Amino acid sequence: MGAEIVTKALVLHEMPISDYDKRLILLTKDYGKITTFAKGAKKSNSKLLAGSQIFCYGDFHIYKGRNTYNINQVSLIEPFYNLRKNIDALTYGLYILEFVEFISVENNADHEIMKLVLKTLKQLELGHISLALIIKIFELKAMSYMGLSPWVKNCILCNSTENLNYFSSKDGGVLCNECRTGKNTILINKGTKYTLEYILEYPIEQLFRFELDGVIFDQFKLVMEQFIEYNLNKKFKALDFLKLEY
Ligand SMILES: [Zn+2]
Repeated sequence: MGAEIVTKALVLHEMPISDYDKRLILLTKDYGKITTFAKGAKKSNSKLLAGSQIFCYGDFHIYKGRNTYNINQVSLIEPFYNLRKNIDALTYGLYILEFVEFISVENNADHEIMKLVLKTLKQLELGHISLALIIKIFELKAMSYMGLSPWVKNCILCNSTENLNYFSSKDGGVLCNECRTGKNTILINKGTKYTLEYILEYPIEQLFRFELDGVIFDQFKLVMEQFIEYNLNKKFKALDFLKLEY
């Protein structure tokens, strides 16, 4: 016997599976990432038409069968329509969805990631601070929620609190001048180290309120690119498009 479940969810990915039906990957509040079917969702008169598109967030009524989930009904809460009005915001938004789909675990709820994703998409819509910075803040916070937080308080090798001028993804954090080895360390200044510490330490609500000067942003961006590549070993498709703009 199956049963209907109701959970808040965000559509991460939609795939047509016939002329009328779709397969949707959802990030749900209560069950983590799940793959669902939206029967008839492509029909123009379907009650699932509006709620079965990427970026849609709402209350999903889902029939849970033995091996499948079928969406019965969606009550939209936030469709993030404004992301579609700005090509940069849309591209960054697609990257967020791709990133979250990759890091989320099936049937394993993660309320912090859910909250982070919704706040980040909202910030991309609002555009109060640089969109590229919003993405980097999201990445660092997401990595920390996954237990992959870089160590930035003192030298990860000798515990020194002096001359912390390098970052090493291989070692997992900041290095002092003496411990710096290898070619893959990134030169960082105090402002960049402080930015990393601040984002890791403070709650999401306080994160999307500052801008960085060019040098600090460039170092922060380089740190995150290297840290994600080293830890996730994954190239994100949406980034191919973004690279054209840098
Ligand atoms: Zn050291």
